[in-house]
Amino acid sequence: MRAVVTGAAGFIGSHLCEHLLACGDDVTGVDALTDYYDPGHKRDNLRPLLARRRFTFLRGDLLGLPLDPFLGGADVVYHLAGQPGVRGSWGPEFAVYLERNVLVTQRLLEAARRTGLRRLVYASSSSVYGDAEAYPTRETVRPRPVSPYGVTKLSAEHLCETYRTVFGVPAVSLRLFSVYGPRQRPDMAFARLVAAAGAGRPFPLYGDGGQSRDFTYVRDVVTAMRAAALSGWAGVANLGGGCEVTMNQVITLLSELGAPVRVIPGGARPGDARRTVADITLARRAFGYRPATDLRTGLAAMVLAATAPPTALRARPLHRSEV
Ligand code: NAD
Repeated sequence: MRAVVTGAAGFIGSHLCEHLLACGDDVTGVDALTDYYDPGHKRDNLRPLLARRRFTFLRGDLLGLPLDPFLGGADVVYHLAGQPGVRGSWGPEFAVYLERNVLVTQRLLEAARRTGLRRLVYASSSSVYGDAEAYPTRETVRPRPVSPYGVTKLSAEHLCETYRTVFGVPAVSLRLFSVYGPRQRPDMAFARLVAAAGAGRPFPLYGDGGQSRDFTYVRDVVTAMRAAALSGWAGVANLGGGCEVTMNQVITLLSELGAPVRVIPGGARPGDARRTVADITLARRAFGYRPATDLRTGLAAMVLAATAPPTALRARPLHRSEV
């Protein structure tokens, strides 16, 4: 299969590219290497991919890039590019969220319609639910985001559904629930926890630690994305990890794994939902989704990756023309 991955240099995008290449797909990765967090992390994510024969990288902003040339030859586009993070989406930064999450998705959908794209898989988010009306939350529960970020993810998802129902663009929107694993974005809780443990720094915990998430291991997410692309199914589905865990439980587990952290109160932040729990029945029925990684195993992999020495490949300098 010929796949295009937007946001290929990011946390989930780089894992998805690895998975697709391992499955024998040809992959074109597109990324602007935005500065939401240090682009050096994104170059590190790209480095092993650039050494792969079936991988091509295109650096560019999807807001202005001509899209038809590379969409025309693709069997599937995985659309992961976007501006993540709930807390930064208030205030003037909202314009960036609107551009990168909503306008970019609308441009892609127009190009998909023009070029007759066969498959589009969009990385939506559990943040569309906000403080959900019911748990475990099914896709039919009324979305009511509690952050501007969630609003933009919901808008983009609605656009996918609109282009699907009106023009037949075969779009699948997957609502990802707190994805974790090696190379997690440095602003996310697990990455900050593991970094604090490694450096012996105190960890500012937002809220009382009783807030819970349905954490989902990144390998399970990228496996499901390809399965969804290969299935004939279209629509909106949850991708959760299958169990609800509080931040306090995560901190205890880290201690058991040999990475203790000293917690200091950081105060609750506006935009964070109190709970997320996915009902994953639909994804299981539609494309056989079964999360395979429990939290202990996934967290241990993150701790190990954070302490492992760089591989020879990672140490290879990037050629200027490569990014
Ligand atoms: P990430 O920031 O690591 O990756 C996103 C990538 O998109 C970045 O590398 C960035 O440079 C690129 N990008 C942003 N705007 C672009 C543009 N206009 N043109 C080209 N490239 C652009 O984030 P992530 O955690 O890997 O998340 C990937 C996607 O999954 C995002 O859309 C996010 O909203 C969604 N999501 C993530 C999670 C999670 O837990 N990480 C949960 C739900 C949804």
